[in-house]
Amino acid sequence: MPRYEYRCRPCGTTFELNRPMAESSAPAVCPDGHEDTVKLLSTVAVGGTAAAPAAPRGGGGGCCGGGCCG
Ligand SMILES: [Zn+2]
Repeated sequence: MPRYEYRCRPCGTTFELNRPMAESSAPAVCPDGHEDTVKLLSTVAVGGTAAAPAAPRGGGGGCCGGGCCG
């Protein structure tokens, strides 16, 4: 579940919540009970990092690389 970071305006604290993406913009209540919070553009990593995309090759025919098969 992604983690989102919020900042409480009344007390200035920042806190994190784990919540579904669908609720990422839902109001978050600060640990001290304040409801006037804003969501930060956090460093949340949803899932893994940018792994190399799987790019299956046709098996080395040597033809399709240049668009001749298109
Ligand atoms: Zn607060």
